[in-house]
Amino acid sequence: MTKYVFVTGGVCSGLGKGITASSIALLLKAKGYKVFMQKFDPYMNVDPGTMSPIQHGEVFVTADGCETDLDLGHYERFIDEELNYSSNITNGKIYSSVIEKERRGDFLGATIQIVPHISNEIKNKIYEAGTSSKADIVITEIGGTVGDIESSVMMESLRQFRMENGKENTIFVHTTLIPYLFGSNELKTKPTQNSIIELRKLGIQPDIIVTRASMELGENVKKKISLFGSIPIENIIEAIDVSNIYQIPINFHKQNIEETILKQFGLENKRSNLKYWEDLLKLSETLKDETEIALVGKYVDLEDAYLSVKESLKHAGYKYNTKIKINWVNSEELEKTDVDLNKVFKNSKGIIIPGGFGSRGIKGMIVAANYARVNNVPFLGICLGMQISVIEFARNVCGIKDADSTEFNEETLNPIIDLMADQKSISNMGGTLRLGNYECRIKKDTLAYADYKSETILERHRHRYEFNNKYKSLLEEKGMVFSGINEQANLVEIIEIPTHKHFIAGQFHPEFKSRPNRCHPLFDSFIKSSIEK
Ligand code: GLN
Repeated sequence: MTKYVFVTGGVCSGLGKGITASSIALLLKAKGYKVFMQKFDPYMNVDPGTMSPIQHGEVFVTADGCETDLDLGHYERFIDEELNYSSNITNGKIYSSVIEKERRGDFLGATIQIVPHISNEIKNKIYEAGTSSKADIVITEIGGTVGDIESSVMMESLRQFRMENGKENTIFVHTTLIPYLFGSNELKTKPTQNSIIELRKLGIQPDIIVTRASMELGENVKKKISLFGSIPIENIIEAIDVSNIYQIPINFHKQNIEETILKQFGLENKRSNLKYWEDLLKLSETLKDETEIALVGKYVDLEDAYLSVKESLKHAGYKYNTKIKINWVNSEELEKTDVDLNKVFKNSKGIIIPGGFGSRGIKGMIVAANYARVNNVPFLGICLGMQISVIEFARNVCGIKDADSTEFNEETLNPIIDLMADQKSISNMGGTLRLGNYECRIKKDTLAYADYKSETILERHRHRYEFNNKYKSLLEEKGMVFSGINEQANLVEIIEIPTHKHFIAGQFHPEFKSRPNRCHPLFDSFIKSSIEK
């Protein structure tokens, strides 16, 4: 039978619950167990796809096309398993599915209530994660903080889940904060005590407490938490602030969190295989050089909007033994007439334009793509970044001065980027982009082929607009190579400029497939060329 670990959070948000959940999953996987991860987000949006990055940071996309919370990116990078539609559940998804069933008449005359109908739907999603993944252990993180109105039904479902499956099949891990107060010069356990009380009011007694603190707790503080929280001392796991998140699984491992979990589950505590993670941690802390890469976007004040891109750059840096310093360039700044581009990009060895939506900041991105192309600066365009580089090339190399995307200018006479044919009749914005894995055929003797070393690849997508094939031959005549094509729908997937040192862009999101110990081929060659510059 599948076992379930539930990770909840108390005191305040931002304690690193996602990293806690990922670390536990990584450690159990390192013990030889098959793990699967899931996140419950207690908002009413069906998925984060329609939310602004300002609200929610990056939208991560799974291989099967689910638009998810960015924590799923941490999960995939930590446990190196492909997650899917079962992995991100929201209140919006739960409620709309229950209401849909009610409209179909599935409930045969019953009055539909939060308990049991909504709570059953939530439980079913947890069971489904276990059965569909066939995992030994499913780790489910509950978004928000215990006590929030939004997550109260989810907590009720977890209470019932424990009752149905027993302590030997379910574990509650509660993450809290232990603040240090200056003046009294003490670590304070009261917020943690209160948070445990809050959890108990919902009928849940935590099994393990993960305490986030700026320093070691010491015996007395631990004893206090143990006494007031009814938590055995060995089930209190310290999460001391770290500068490198890769350190966290190792810190938990040193405190035997896996042993505590496996003991409660009655599972064998096998030998851990953590060497690759320890090597990675060591490498990430001893990188020899530093390479600056400019990332041009409109949400650069909010690094979470580009989280997976940032991580992917880091991963490629590991391969070449270099720390990556990101030069965050606000594309709107590049639109000012007095901007000195040589100054902005002075130390940047490569330029990257990531994905995005809407017309704000587009002009500045075109300026950046132009700077990279004209000055032979290694360039990587991602999704919107590919569309930008094509518009720039059409305008400034092919002389189509008004080339544009209909996303930014519906009236343009030269829609070099246009809605995909099957998008034209769509009126609902949520969940209707071209999402998830699609195949791409790669032309031989191209940079893309040198990178991937394969004629067919699968990459994850999230877009509505696409290169307009009518302009293909003209751009080809002027030197652009269309090196990756989706043959089923005849869509351009990769473009490159062979006369340039390194200019490549893709209609998909390579950043979702990069892993700390296996950087993505496009980021690999981009960083390699940038170092050589
Ligand atoms: N806005 C563009 C589109 O919808 C690009 C999307 C993206 O970068 N993810 O096609």
